[in-house]
Amino acid sequence: MTTPVRRQYLGVKREHQDEILLFRMGDFYETFDDDARLLSRELEIALTSREFGKGQRVPLAGIPYHSLEASLARLIKKGHKVAICEQVSDPATSKGIVDREVVRVVTPGTIIEDALLERNANNYLAALLVEGDSVGLSWVDITTSEFATAQFDLAQLPVELSRLTPSELLVPEDSLPEDGEDMPDYGDVMLTPLLQDAFHADWGRETLLRHFGVASLESFGCENKPLAARAAGAVIDYLQQTQRGAIGQITTLYTHSTADYMILDAQTRHNLELYEGGRWGAVNASLLSVLDATKTSMGGRLLRRWLGQPLLDVERLLRRQDAVEWFHRSALRRERIVMLLESVSDMERLVNRVRGHNATPRDLVSLANSLDAAPKIKDLLREDDDADKVEWLAERIADNGEVVELVRQAIGDDPPISVGDGNVIRQGFSPELDEVRGTSRNAQDYIARLEHKERERTGIKSLKVGYNRVFGYYIEISNANLEQAPDDYVRRQTLVGGERFITPEMKEYESLILNAQDRIGEMESALFRQVCQQVAGYAEPILRTARAIANIDAFASLAEVASLHGYVRPVLDDGAAIVVKQGRHPVVERMLPPGDFVANDTALASDGEQLIILTGPNMAGKSTYIRQVAVITLMAQIGSFVPAESARIGVCDRIFTRVGLQDDLAMGQSTFMVEMVETAAILNHATPRSLIVLDEIGRGTSTYDGLAIARAVAEHIHNNPRLGCKTLFATHYHELTQLADTLPRAFNYNVVVSEDKGQVVFLRNIAPGGADRSYGVHVARLAGMPSGVVSRAWKVLAELENSSKAKGAASRRKGGVQAQQMPLLTFASPVVDELLAIDVASLTPLDAINRLYELQERAREDQ
Ligand code: ADP
Repeated sequence: MTTPVRRQYLGVKREHQDEILLFRMGDFYETFDDDARLLSRELEIALTSREFGKGQRVPLAGIPYHSLEASLARLIKKGHKVAICEQVSDPATSKGIVDREVVRVVTPGTIIEDALLERNANNYLAALLVEGDSVGLSWVDITTSEFATAQFDLAQLPVELSRLTPSELLVPEDSLPEDGEDMPDYGDVMLTPLLQDAFHADWGRETLLRHFGVASLESFGCENKPLAARAAGAVIDYLQQTQRGAIGQITTLYTHSTADYMILDAQTRHNLELYEGGRWGAVNASLLSVLDATKTSMGGRLLRRWLGQPLLDVERLLRRQDAVEWFHRSALRRERIVMLLESVSDMERLVNRVRGHNATPRDLVSLANSLDAAPKIKDLLREDDDADKVEWLAERIADNGEVVELVRQAIGDDPPISVGDGNVIRQGFSPELDEVRGTSRNAQDYIARLEHKERERTGIKSLKVGYNRVFGYYIEISNANLEQAPDDYVRRQTLVGGERFITPEMKEYESLILNAQDRIGEMESALFRQVCQQVAGYAEPILRTARAIANIDAFASLAEVASLHGYVRPVLDDGAAIVVKQGRHPVVERMLPPGDFVANDTALASDGEQLIILTGPNMAGKSTYIRQVAVITLMAQIGSFVPAESARIGVCDRIFTRVGLQDDLAMGQSTFMVEMVETAAILNHATPRSLIVLDEIGRGTSTYDGLAIARAVAEHIHNNPRLGCKTLFATHYHELTQLADTLPRAFNYNVVVSEDKGQVVFLRNIAPGGADRSYGVHVARLAGMPSGVVSRAWKVLAELENSSKAKGAASRRKGGVQAQQMPLLTFASPVVDELLAIDVASLTPLDAINRLYELQERAREDQ
């Protein structure tokens, strides 16, 4: 016989086969069968068993209800999905077994627990639909209510996915590859297949219309973007199934247009170290870490988003710049606002917890404190003469005084986390609650005074008043004094040394206390729910305020960093040039002692110096310089000031960066193939408005191949009329400097080094002209190679250079500096190396003839 609970469990489990089902039983979440085995393994907890009816013993593993959050964290991190099944009827009043329902399915894209979320980053759930060459991609962060959708070319999918880095991706079931087919590369994300229907055209549209209660998708901007609407529909459908609490929080949808933002592919984000550092020695030194002085999580998340999607529209950028400048101009007003920002909590997530019925009393108090600071920030924004620059921010800050008032009146200043013990609701908020609390207090006072009173009345000094769970309150008298017990004492219990009594009056007070406690618990919970509901009614203005504050925080942060490190406001236009006076790399600069970074100029233009070939020895600073130009451009296009004396930036539609294989070994780039695929992608996607940064392209193959490819790539970028994009090309192949002779818009620069008594000194200056040689041997010496090897290398180098001169190497000039070159094909052959290595004096004649024969054979093979 299967018991009713077991049947109930099996019924729920049938609906949640893909998830670990946590089944609430009293104070525990239990799992059974395979789930129990899995849970016990993953959480390292005991696996026991439980009998459901005769002979029906099943494996069981459980966690106490209060450790749910910690357990969820571990399970989700390990890639599981978890369904939480709660008791939804009151066990005390239920007939038969308690009703149970799955109230939430927790997946990586739908977590709301603070402990599981990153403070300064969004956690996106996304849905993807691919049809032909187009895709619909929709994303939601249920903790902040951001919900967006977009439709664009399939080719751009990797870029968008790497920008959003969703933690879970919904895809139509049949889009997954059959056995043996390759999985498309969606990055490090959990894929959740959904039934086809969820993405169906009519269904998706209907789902959205129904959810938002509107008649058309026009106002959301996706009426004519069917794939975008269908992806968004799938998101809503999934949330409806998994997140009953959260779905109401999704109140609006915006259609993101990829054409409004600069395109940054994953490699470029990585190479420019937007979010993660490492290249310059410190792991946490990223561009974000340098720019982020935000005080709130909301500001932190916004700045992170800005960095990932630079703008193209000069008007919008000017508005951002004006705001940064406003904060930049006066340290005093910035400081006053920043001080207020410090008291602002994560309002976006707080208000969503309130709406989702997950808020604690403390959450309400921090929300109110934050809302209290908001109008003060608004006043400070408006105080100034040039307040019009920030008025658009000020006007979005709603006056949420009513909410603050409500919370202040309802909730005590320092409330407990949980509701129900009577300490949450402030005195005076609810006369009924106060009355019950008063009754309870009176009754408790009565009991507290009882011992004293009864001792006086009976004259028994050792009389005690006590409490136990079985008999409640009692009066205890020892055997020696039993005689003196008054008549109204009713005997309840006999002990070895005495008796316990009650009086009818004290029992009345006792029941008052107990009833009052129950009542207080109920009333407090109800009042708290009611306050939350009222606050939830203000969610929209609160969110608007929160977003304005996020902006203010981000602008203040950019201004703070600009003023701290001496950045300037760049001039932005739609022109074709990037002109930077005395630019610096914002991250490398921070890693060096103050003043050590050497600033450099840049003047790139599609119709002028379009292709800069930068040569110089290893470690001279080539990578730093070419990245610096890209980073300055990117900073300018999020509205930030830039590390330079002055800058004029013609807005770029894309920044591409590619790093040659050997330079990027540590980053796990696998093969030369990868490098070539990426380079091909640039050539296929760049436009005249793009900025390309190439670092040591072609290095991952033999010298001749590499050189040939690097040269061909440079020529293509220069000559193809569809491209013509601004390009910085760093290479240690100084042979490439010859390009400047034949390509009119190609120019040579080099990172200057000087030689002092055989030591190379890095000057870090960028000067016109190509490097005359690569100083590789100097660097080998700096790196601590044995001196024998270094001096041998010097000798070989000298001989090679002499032989190349003898062949009449072309010397060339452009930009002023004499460049000694080795022609392309006079590279050292291993045969020459071997020949040079022979110690002729010690050879016997026979050996000499044999060696000569061998070398001749080798030389024939090499030809
Ligand atoms: P390359 O690409 O030529 O091999 P890098 O750009 O990697 O050289 O630079 C090597 C190191 O030189 C950097 O880690 C940095 O510490 C230092 N460096 C580079 N550029 C500058 C500069 N402009 N001023 C001061 N130090 C610099």
